[in-house]
Amino acid sequence: MELRKDPITRSWVVAGHRHDTCETSGGCPFCPAKMDTRPALLRLPAQGPWQVAVIPHPDPLYRVEGEAGRRADGIYDAMQPVGADEMVIETPEHDRKFEGLSEDQIMLVMEAWRLRIEDLKRDLRFKYVSVYKNYGPLAGQEGSHAHSQVTATTFVPRRILYELRASREWYAEKERCVFCDIVKQEERQAKRVVDTQGDYVALCPYASRVPFEVWIMDRKHNHLFERQRPDSNRRQLAALLRRMLLRIRQVAPAYHMVVHSAPNLRHPKGEKSSYWKTIAEDYHWHIEILPIVETRSKSYSIKEVYYNALKPEDAAARLRNLDILS
Ligand SMILES: [Zn+2]
Ligand SMILES: [Zn+2]
Ligand SMILES: [Zn+2]
Repeated sequence: MELRKDPITRSWVVAGHRHDTCETSGGCPFCPAKMDTRPALLRLPAQGPWQVAVIPHPDPLYRVEGEAGRRADGIYDAMQPVGADEMVIETPEHDRKFEGLSEDQIMLVMEAWRLRIEDLKRDLRFKYVSVYKNYGPLAGQEGSHAHSQVTATTFVPRRILYELRASREWYAEKERCVFCDIVKQEERQAKRVVDTQGDYVALCPYASRVPFEVWIMDRKHNHLFERQRPDSNRRQLAALLRRMLLRIRQVAPAYHMVVHSAPNLRHPKGEKSSYWKTIAEDYHWHIEILPIVETRSKSYSIKEVYYNALKPEDAAARLRNLDILS
């Protein structure tokens, strides 16, 4: 297994691994009976029976030991898949879905994400920490017990690089954060906003790649998901996220959800790399939800031009008008 770089798009591809489902015949490995006997990276709350637990992935894509050992392969680049691959078990209850959790429980899951990002960013080999959730077989969910994933990589994923470059350029030109600008215009126009709660806004982005794509954004500027604003109330975020997923589940059988936060700004030589000089002002964390609907407008990763049959204005109107059935 190794990582290979596409010399044209500059994206890294994991070559030669299936990342198998880890459900064994001996019952669900993520239910309390099995979980209580295995070492965990984190259990929340700190006292009493766990409500959220983080464990190393049983069949990891990335391995924590060693160096990336970036090397040339003729004209190409390859490296060892050094990194971390962790599973966040979101509830001890086997049949409970993420959006069926209480606000308190969703806050606990987000707290686990936050703590794992902070911890993994202390490792200077890791350039980026991804937090994501694949819900449903169409999204490649492994097993049926509710979980999300945290991976730390020695490279910044391509989509994040695009965002970082674009927001850096926007800031260089206008001295404003592009995401703050998006939130302001969307709230003013109110065509693509689906729902709000306190400081948080859920909207269908202007150039949605797939039907019912939703971004959840903080109205107040902050580049790091894991470093909470002192005046923020993550209960509002938990409530909004829960309502949005309850809506999305009515229109799509599966979804990807990804937290986008700034990369690891700690430099191996001690200080912040000058490349990221304005990142605290120019980048803005957010959560993206990419539903998978069975239509002919397809392909999130393969086609280079997205074809989305549903206009985000219409998607937002439909999502707004759905009853929230929990
Ligand atoms: Zn289970
Ligand atoms: Zn901003
Ligand atoms: Zn993003």
